[in-house]
Amino acid sequence: MKNIYLCQFSIINEQKFVLLPYSAGMIQAYAQSIDSINREYQFHSDIFFIPDKKKNIINQIINPHIVGFGVYIWNLDFSDSIAKEIKKKYKDCLIVYGGPQVPEDEEDFLRKRPWVDKLIHKEGEISFSNFLLNDDCNHERIRELDSLPSPYLSGIFNHYFSKYDNYVLNAILETNRGCPYKCTFCDWGGITYSKVHKFDTDRIFKELEWFSENKIEHITCTDANFGIFKERDEKIVDKIISIKEETGYPFAFNTNWAKNSNENILNIASKLKKASMLRKMGLSLQSLNLDVLTNVKRKNMELNNLTLMLKKARKKDLEVMVEMILNLPGETKETWIENYCNLLANDNIFIDSYPLTVLKNSELGKKEYIKKYNIKTVKSKTNYGGGLKSKEEIVVSTENMTKKEYHEAWLFTWFLRSMHSNGYLYFIYKFMNIEYNMSIRKFYEFIFESKNNTIEMLIDSRKDLLENNLYNDFYYNNDWIYLIEKRRNLFYEELKILLKQNFEFEYFDELIDFQNISFYNDKISYPIRKKFDYNFFNHRKEPVTLKFTHGGIGSHENFKSFLSLSRSHNWKCEVEYT
Ligand code: SF4
Repeated sequence: MKNIYLCQFSIINEQKFVLLPYSAGMIQAYAQSIDSINREYQFHSDIFFIPDKKKNIINQIINPHIVGFGVYIWNLDFSDSIAKEIKKKYKDCLIVYGGPQVPEDEEDFLRKRPWVDKLIHKEGEISFSNFLLNDDCNHERIRELDSLPSPYLSGIFNHYFSKYDNYVLNAILETNRGCPYKCTFCDWGGITYSKVHKFDTDRIFKELEWFSENKIEHITCTDANFGIFKERDEKIVDKIISIKEETGYPFAFNTNWAKNSNENILNIASKLKKASMLRKMGLSLQSLNLDVLTNVKRKNMELNNLTLMLKKARKKDLEVMVEMILNLPGETKETWIENYCNLLANDNIFIDSYPLTVLKNSELGKKEYIKKYNIKTVKSKTNYGGGLKSKEEIVVSTENMTKKEYHEAWLFTWFLRSMHSNGYLYFIYKFMNIEYNMSIRKFYEFIFESKNNTIEMLIDSRKDLLENNLYNDFYYNNDWIYLIEKRRNLFYEELKILLKQNFEFEYFDELIDFQNISFYNDKISYPIRKKFDYNFFNHRKEPVTLKFTHGGIGSHENFKSFLSLSRSHNWKCEVEYT
C-alpha cells in the first residue's frame, strides 16, 4: 500500500479553538469512496491540522508516497517549511499543493517551490482522486455536490474528539458553493465560479445532527451569501436552532450573510439572535464610495436602503458588524474617513476594517489591474496564532491614496474604533453632539488633534507598527488598552481640561465622571450609586441619583476578552434612576 498524508493547518484561536480540516476531509472522503484507490493507497488516520513543531509533524510521516497540503494565506509559509523538509527526507515522495493560494499562473509559484511536484487548481476532490488514478489533475467544475461524501458523516473525524481533547474542535458547514458576484479583490468567485451549486438539505441536516452529537460549539458556514436562498436557508437555521434547543449544541452560528441584506435576512438573523446563537450580524460593505465600488465590480445596496436596513435591525435588537476594506482602488483618505464616520453615527453598528490583501487568484492580483490603478504593495508579517506566521501582500498605495495618507487613514480609523466603538469617549461624544452639534468626525478630529498627552502617547505607540509595515498587528494588537488603563484617571482629567478650555459648560466634571463610571472600570466595585446635578439622559439641569450596574468583564490584562466584550458593547453599564 502507498501512504498518503494530508495537511490543512488551521489557525488556533485563543490557544484552544480550532476548525476541523473540512476541505482535506472532503478530499479524503471522496478518494476513499473509490475502490481502486482503496486497493492501492492508505490514508494516514489523521489529517495534520494543528500547527506543531516541524520535527513533531515530520516524525509522524513514515514512508510517504504522497503528502498533500491545503494552502491559504495563513498556512502557506508553514506548509512550505514542512513540505521542504519532507522532500529532503523522502526524495521520491510526491508533494501536492491545492487550495485557494495555488495561483492559476503556476510558473512563478513552482519556481519558488522546487519541492512541489503537482498543483491542484480550484475544487480539489475529484482532481486529487484523478491524480491518484491516472496522474491527471484536471477536472471540470463539480455540479453534483452530493456525489462528494461528507467527511463528517464518513467518520473521518470521529476519533479526533478524544485525541485532540486539549482543543475545542469547531466545524465548517458548506451548504453551497459559488458566488454570483465577482468582486475584484476576492478569489471566491474565481475558485468556485459564479454559479451557485447546492448540497441537499437532508445531508446538511445530518451534518448538523453530527455536530450536536459531537458537542460542536461553533459552526462557521462558508457560504458566500447565506440567506440568498430565503426558504432553504431559513429551514437550515430553524434546524440549527431546534437541535440546539434539544441538545444544547451548537452554541453559535457564524456566516457570510448575503451581500444585499433584506428583511428576510434580518428575520433569519433575528431568529439566531433570539436563540443566543448570533452576537452580531455581519454586513460586508467594503466601501461606500461609488467610484470604488465600480472599480472593484461590486454593487452594494443603496445608501438609503442601508440606513433603512440598519433601522429595521435596531428594531429587531440586532447589532450589525460592518466589514470595510481600506485602500480599494478609487478610495481617498477623505472619502474613507467621511464614509466611516457617517456609518459610525448609526448606533447599532460596529465597524471592522481590514487592510487590502492581494489574493493570488483575484482580479486585483493580475498585472493589468495593478498597473491600471497604480497599486503598490508591501509584504507584511502576520501572526495568525498557534504558530502560523505568514506574510501577506498588503496594498499600501494606489493612484488615489499615498502611503502617507494610508497611514493617516489607519491611525484615525483606529482612533475612532478605540475611543468610540470600544467606548472610552462614547458618552462624551453623545453629549457634545447634542449640546454643541458636533458631528462624530468633528468631535474625534478635535480630540485627535488636541495633543492631549495620553492621546499623543497612544497615537505614537501605533505609529511604530505602521512604519514597520505591521498592518494586521496595527489593527489587532490591543496593547493600547493596557497603556490607557494604567493612566485612566489622568486620561479623563486631561480631557476635562481640554473641554473646559474650549467649551462653556458648568458640568464637565460630572460628564467626565458619568463617562468614566458608565464605561466599565475595574477600579470600581459595581453596583454604584452617584448623585449628579445634571441629568445626562435628558440633557437637563436637574439633580438625579443614578445606579450603575456591571457584571464585570474579567481582567483588563486579558485584552482579548475585554475587546470581544467591548465589541458587543458590554462595556456599557446598565444605568437607572434611583
Ligand atoms: S467578496 Fe463576497 S460577494 Fe464578492 S465575490 Fe467574494 S464572496 Fe462574492
